Amino acid sequence: MTRRYNFCAGPAALPTPVLERAREEMLDYRGHGLSVMEMSHRSPEFEAIAGAAEANLRTLLQIPDNYRVLFMQGGATMQFACVPLNLLGGGGTPNYLDTGIWSGKAIKEADHLAGSHLAATSRASGYVDVPRNDAIALSADAAYLHYCHNETIGGLAYDYTPDVAVPLVCDMSSSILSTPLDVSRYGVIYAGAQKNIGPAGLTLVIVRDDLLGQALPRTPSLLDWKVYADNASMINTPPTYAWYLAGLVFEWLRDDVGGIEAMATINRRKAATLYGAIDASDFYSNPIAPVNRSLMNVPFVLADEALNNTFLDEAEAAGLLNLKGHRSVGGMRASLYNAVTEQAVDALVAFMGDFERRHG
Ligand SMILES: *Cc1c(COP(=O)(O)O)cnc(C)c1O
Repeated sequence: MTRRYNFCAGPAALPTPVLERAREEMLDYRGHGLSVMEMSHRSPEFEAIAGAAEANLRTLLQIPDNYRVLFMQGGATMQFACVPLNLLGGGGTPNYLDTGIWSGKAIKEADHLAGSHLAATSRASGYVDVPRNDAIALSADAAYLHYCHNETIGGLAYDYTPDVAVPLVCDMSSSILSTPLDVSRYGVIYAGAQKNIGPAGLTLVIVRDDLLGQALPRTPSLLDWKVYADNASMINTPPTYAWYLAGLVFEWLRDDVGGIEAMATINRRKAATLYGAIDASDFYSNPIAPVNRSLMNVPFVLADEALNNTFLDEAEAAGLLNLKGHRSVGGMRASLYNAVTEQAVDALVAFMGDFERRHG
């Protein structure tokens, strides 16, 4: 068996030790004689799995006691709707920061449901940087401020946490668990699982408890955060296997990696290696302002676009998968999520150097 290096933006690489553990436990979960996939979500065995996953996540991110952790489905995209539906019961206008494609999609959904106010945008720069805090202009009746911490497609990340007088709501789908996080700065944090948490099908929501119970009356119960909070995220059948695998990823982060600080050190090293190689060459380039370069998603283009397909074909032959950029931006993108090893990044950089020597 050869596991190749996977730079996919999502569903993304999972840690090999996690998959090995899942394989060991596949047919007989710890002597229960069943696969986790076959268990009732109401069984004591699954309740233990679910509870341990939440406890470990709370420890990893030091989530304060006045925050609830919800395990939902529907992806981050469903949260684009859940955010206005759950936060506008007391009136007010949704406020948004626009830094590219994912924040733009969240804005579009808010507009569809309730209308929105654009508090700041980096559109004028071509989304190569983020609005500074002093450029954020909230509407007088702002209900919350939403932003996307890491624009997965643009490869753009905030280098600061916005400081505003209304609840801060953040899409952290592609950066959660990659660096330390001060949860207390936020009202709501959400993330689809398939980047840094586990397999697709699970979505995490971390919400401050005073923000629960403010849903618009028309909110379907399956989109209502409070219904999840009141029912231990088991209002209906949750994505049990994805929840279990997320729990294994949290254990891996704690036990094998040594926590989020240790993970961040590795992630910074990986990103420095790849950006360093890009910056040292005239053959590859990345357009993002250095302070806003994403640690997780590194888009880059070749000086000669005619070589794109050759690059991708040769990369694949060298065991480096999923380097094609998003269809909306073209070029290449290497996603360096937690499960992507330093060895994988070293192999990519060596390949890029070799490709440049042969084609540059
Ligand atoms: C992947 C991604 C999404 C969409 O996630 P789905 O789970 O497919 O809905 C939203 N926001 C960001 C920042 C993402 O990276």
